[in-house]
Amino acid sequence: MPAASKSPPAEKPVAAPAPGTGLSAVQRALRKLGLLRDIDFALYLPMRYEDETRIVRLADVRDGEMAQIEAVVTESEVVFRPRRQLIVTVDDGSDTCQLRFFNFYPSQHKQLAVGARVRVRGEVRGGFIGRQMMHPAVKAAGTQLPEALTPVYSTIAGLAQPVLRREVRSGLARAVLDETLPAGAAPPGAWDLRSALSFLHYPAPDVSMATLEDHSHPAWQRLKADELLAQQLSQLQARRARAAQQAPVLGAAPAGASLHSELLAALPFALTGAQQRVGDEITRDLARALPMHRLLQGDVGSGKTVVAALAAARCIDAGHQCALMAPTEILAAQHFGKLVGWLDPLLAERGLRVAWLTGSQKKKERDQMSAAVESGEAALVIGTHAVISEKVHFRRLALAIIDEQHRFGVAQRLALRGKAVGRNGDPEAGLGRPGAGLEPHLLMMSATPIPRTLAMSYYADLDVSTLDELPPGRTPIVTKLVAEHRRDEVIDRIQAQLQQGRQVYWVCPLIEESEAVDLRNATETRDELADALGEQVGVGLLHSRMPTAEKQAVMESFTANRLQVLVSTTVIEVGVDVPNASLMVIEHAERFGLSQLHQLRGRVGRGAAASACVLLYAPNEGGRVGETARARLKAMAETADGFEIARRDLEIRGPGEFLGARQSGAPLLRFADLSTDLVLLDWARELAPRMLDRHPGLAARHVDRWLGSKAEYLKA
Ligand code: ADP
Ligand code: MG
Repeated sequence: MPAASKSPPAEKPVAAPAPGTGLSAVQRALRKLGLLRDIDFALYLPMRYEDETRIVRLADVRDGEMAQIEAVVTESEVVFRPRRQLIVTVDDGSDTCQLRFFNFYPSQHKQLAVGARVRVRGEVRGGFIGRQMMHPAVKAAGTQLPEALTPVYSTIAGLAQPVLRREVRSGLARAVLDETLPAGAAPPGAWDLRSALSFLHYPAPDVSMATLEDHSHPAWQRLKADELLAQQLSQLQARRARAAQQAPVLGAAPAGASLHSELLAALPFALTGAQQRVGDEITRDLARALPMHRLLQGDVGSGKTVVAALAAARCIDAGHQCALMAPTEILAAQHFGKLVGWLDPLLAERGLRVAWLTGSQKKKERDQMSAAVESGEAALVIGTHAVISEKVHFRRLALAIIDEQHRFGVAQRLALRGKAVGRNGDPEAGLGRPGAGLEPHLLMMSATPIPRTLAMSYYADLDVSTLDELPPGRTPIVTKLVAEHRRDEVIDRIQAQLQQGRQVYWVCPLIEESEAVDLRNATETRDELADALGEQVGVGLLHSRMPTAEKQAVMESFTANRLQVLVSTTVIEVGVDVPNASLMVIEHAERFGLSQLHQLRGRVGRGAAASACVLLYAPNEGGRVGETARARLKAMAETADGFEIARRDLEIRGPGEFLGARQSGAPLLRFADLSTDLVLLDWARELAPRMLDRHPGLAARHVDRWLGSKAEYLKA
C-alpha cells in the first residue's frame, strides 16, 4: 500500500473533491480563475501544448526530447534505494528505457506489470545506466491517438489539469460564438472566432509552434483583433456619451483684468513653446460646453504644474472653482507651496484664496478649509484624496485636475467628477440649468508617458497633450552605473557636490515586504552617510512610515538647505522639486522599474548646475544582474528622454504590463500586444465608429463578449 504522496502523478486530480461538495469546490476554484461565463472558458487559452498525436520509436528519440512511445514492460519492481520507488523497464523493439516513479498509486503499479503493453509519454534522458524517463504519463496502449495537440492550461487555484481540460472543452462547446463583425469587416487573413478558438485549444499537430508562441498565427490574429475592437468600441461609446454631456463654459475673461494674464506676467520665466501650445489646447477645450477629458503627458521637469495653474486661472476667471488632486501628501504640498506663491497675491485682490485639504490636517483647519470650499471663497482647492471626501462640498467646481493620474482609481476619478457644479447646487452660478448636473472639465497629468502614437490610438476616449520640450537652461544629467563594491567612490562624489554647495538625494529601495525592515535599512544608510560625511553635513531621513508632520518638516529642511543630504525610500518618487539638488544616488537600482528610475532621476537636473545620477547596482550571488534589470540600467545610461524611456519600457516589459495595473488600475489587454499589433489597432480604430453607427446591436454584443463586466469599468 503506497503512502499518501505529496505530489502524485499529473494524471490524477490533485485534490479529489469531498463527496457532496465536489461541484461547488471546483466551481469556486474556477471562479478564482475568473471563469464564470461559457465565453470565459472559451477564452482561457492554453499556456502550452503536449503532442500526444504520434507514437515514435525510442531509437529515434534524442536525449532531452519529449516522446510518446508504446512498449512492453519487461521488468517492474518497487525498490528502496534509498527512497521507495517504482522502477520499470520497457522495450519498444527499437530500444529499452527505464521509467522511475517516486510517487505512485497502487493502480499504476498494477498497470505497469511485466508483460503489459503501455503508452508512455515523457522526457527521455540519457544516463550511464541507460535511458530514463522520470514520472512519465502512462496509459493503456492501443487506444486511439488524438488528432490535435493536447492543451496544458495554467492551473492555479488548486485545479487539476484534467478538470480544467474538461471544463474548458464543455465551456467552449456551449459558448455562443456567432459572428459579431459586420459582413466583410474582418481583418484580412483572420479566422472566424469559433475556428480560431477551437484551433488554439486543440491545434493541428503540424502547426508551426513558433506562430503559436509569438501569437502571429491567424487564429491569434482574430482574437487580438476582436479584443482591440472591443476596446475601441467601448472607449468610443464613452466618448460619445461624454459628447452628450454639458460642462460649464470657461471662456477667456476680458483682457487685462484676467487672473490668467496676471499670472503669466508674474511668472519668473517665459513659457516654453510646448507649454504655450498645450495651454492653447486646454484653453480651447475649456471654452466649450463639452466636458474636457484630456491627458497632459510630459516628462519629469517639463513643467506641467504651470500649465495646470494657468488652466486653473482660466477657470477662476470664469467665476468657478478648480480642484487639484495629487496622490501623495508630499506632492500635494509641493503643488500647494508653488501655487500659493504664484496665485495667492493675485487671488487676495479678488477676495479669493487657495485652500489646502488633506487627511492629516487638524479637524479645525479642515473645517475651516471646507467652509471656504463651500462658500466659494476657495477658488482653488489643492490636496490629496481628502478633496473627494463626502464632507467636501464645492460651490461651483468646474475644473478637476489630477496629477499622476494613473495612481488614482476609476472610482476616485468619478468621485471628483461628482463634485461638479450643479451637483451640489449653486442656484446663482449662472450656468443656465442649476442642479441639472453639469460635468466638470477633467485634466489628467502623467509623467510616465506612453509612446505618443500609442497614446493617440489607444486612448480613443482621451485627448492627449504632450509637453515634448524641457524648459531652457537645464544641463543634461549624467547617468553612471556603479557596482555596489565601489560604494566608496560614491561617497567621494557626494563630498564633491557638497563642497560646491549642492545637495544630494540617496534613495533606498523597498527590499522587504515589511516597511519596518525598509525603515531600518534606510536608517542604517542615513547613519552610515552621516558618519562618512562628518558632523557639519545635515543628513535627513524620509520614509513613508513617518508621521506626515515629520515628513513635511524633513522636506522643508531639505528644501531650505538645512539638510544637505536626503536619504529616503521611494516616497520622493513623484514631483519633488528642489533645484539645488544635483546628485541622485539610487541604491539597488536593479530592483526598480524603468519609469520609476527615470522619475527619480528627474529630481535632479532642475537647476543650472551640472547634475548626475548614480545607479548603484548589486550583482546577485552568481555575480550577475538579471537580464531585464540589465536592460533597464542600460536604457537609463543611454537616454534621458522620457519618451524614449517609455518606448524601451514597453519593449522590456511588454504592453500587457505597461498598460496594466500600473497605468490604468486594471490590466486592459489579454491577447493583443500594442508593440506588435499596431496594424490590427488601426483596423479596429477605423471600424469602430462605422460599427457603432450602422451595427449598434453587433457592437453591443461584441463589447459584452470581450469585456463583459469590464465594460462598465472602461466607461469611467
Ligand atoms: P513636472 O512636469 O515634472 O511636474 P514641474 O512643473 O515641477 O515639472 O516643473 C519643473 C521645474 O521647472 C519647476 O521648478 C518649474 O517652476 C520650472 N519651470 C516650469 N516651466 C518653466 C519654464 N518655461 N522655464 C523655466 N522653468 C520652468
Ligand atoms: Mg509634477
